[in-house]
Amino acid sequence: MRAGRAAGIAGAAGAILPDVPAIAGTAYYIGPSFLREGWSSMDSEKVVEAIYVSGPFGSTGVALHSAVPPLALLLLYVIFDLGRRDRRRILLWFLFGWLGHAVADFLTHADNARPLFWPLSDWTWASPVSYYDPLHYGKEFFLISHVLIFLMMAALLVRWIRSRNKNPTETSSKNP
Ligand SMILES: [Zn+2]
Repeated sequence: MRAGRAAGIAGAAGAILPDVPAIAGTAYYIGPSFLREGWSSMDSEKVVEAIYVSGPFGSTGVALHSAVPPLALLLLYVIFDLGRRDRRRILLWFLFGWLGHAVADFLTHADNARPLFWPLSDWTWASPVSYYDPLHYGKEFFLISHVLIFLMMAALLVRWIRSRNKNPTETSSKNP
């Protein structure tokens, strides 16, 4: 496996990490009824709070949505020169992915923002833009982000097809 690919997978894993407690909490509290009825089965405010704010799932989610843990680990990474051991940059990109999620969520929550500097501070910020709330440009955000995702996937697909078409001619030219 190429080093670049390993780092990419690590970055994606780090980017997913903060939402793992909410996913697990949703499965635990709602499970089958969520799969059947979707968000409507989450009407109970208590359940939403248990998934996102309090209890074992919610509070772990709050801790993982803080920029403090990944920043502290990045600081240790630099102090202990872990880059010398982490040659494929797996740990580094895991931490970048994690930090990126915390910052992205911070910038895209009008309500329900989680404190970015927990446990140092409970300060939250109500962003004018929400990634889901139609009262805060949620629809526009959805449209723009999904167009960008589509373009990115199309570009990756084109690159992949081009490299596939190139490789056979390269190998055949080596074998006269
Ligand atoms: Zn999140």
